[in-house]
Amino acid sequence: MNMKGQTKEKRRLRHAIKWAKRYAFFSSFSVISPARGRCLICSNEQESFDYAGLCGECKGKITPIIGRACEKCGRPLIAEESYCETCREHERHFDRAFSCFVYEGAARMMITRFKYAKEPFYARQMAEDMAELYYAKGMSCTAIVPSPSSAERIKERGYDHIAVLAELLSKRLHLPVVYNAVVKGKDNKAQAGLKGLEREENVLGVYEKGENARRLKGARVLIVDDVLTTGATASAIAKVAKRAGAKGAYVLTFASTRYYVVPKDDQPRGGEREEI
Ligand SMILES: [Zn+2]
Ligand SMILES: [Zn+2]
Repeated sequence: MNMKGQTKEKRRLRHAIKWAKRYAFFSSFSVISPARGRCLICSNEQESFDYAGLCGECKGKITPIIGRACEKCGRPLIAEESYCETCREHERHFDRAFSCFVYEGAARMMITRFKYAKEPFYARQMAEDMAELYYAKGMSCTAIVPSPSSAERIKERGYDHIAVLAELLSKRLHLPVVYNAVVKGKDNKAQAGLKGLEREENVLGVYEKGENARRLKGARVLIVDDVLTTGATASAIAKVAKRAGAKGAYVLTFASTRYYVVPKDDQPRGGEREEI
């Protein structure tokens, strides 16, 4: 990329961060209640909403990760094992990853709308659940590192939704958000549509140290993202953070895919086939 292109890219990213801070600021005053009086997922009329504009039935379709989960990436497991196959077979640069819910049903719809339909309405509830999990798991970090998006993707979606989540979490956890410590070095293909190892390769070499990387020296970073699928992205970010001197790298996401271990036949493995 030439100098002019880099300046333009930086300007776009700076604008996205400003926007995210502004949104997070205003959302801390607003009360979550959809104006239409209808559930945001199924559109049924509701008298009251206690969870991000979802009716009781839709809220019931959100599955918390409370059973057996991988002790590294936190994805739900059904097999009697401590680690999922991906964590056993691949080097993971993060120390631990935790997610609130299984990436399916209403939780998946919340993320999709938040991410693609520019409905940041959901962010506040997501941040609340993530903060609760952070404390429940006894995590103790010193800085938030949002999973970085390229200026091109931010332009496509209309905003940097992860920066909005990071800002809202920053208020709840009393941690600073360090932008531009880990940046996207070159634009990769969108992760959606890629499977398993293809994803791993797609993120390799994509993340690199940014101008604020020195702020991670000695830090225990909390990498924030909306969903964890294979964990390849989180691991790549953690690798850069540790290269910048971070002492620890933890990952917190709103949802994660299931990881089915089906040993003897070639049945699909849910987590690896997930597309976002
Ligand atoms: Zn509903
Ligand atoms: Zn795992």
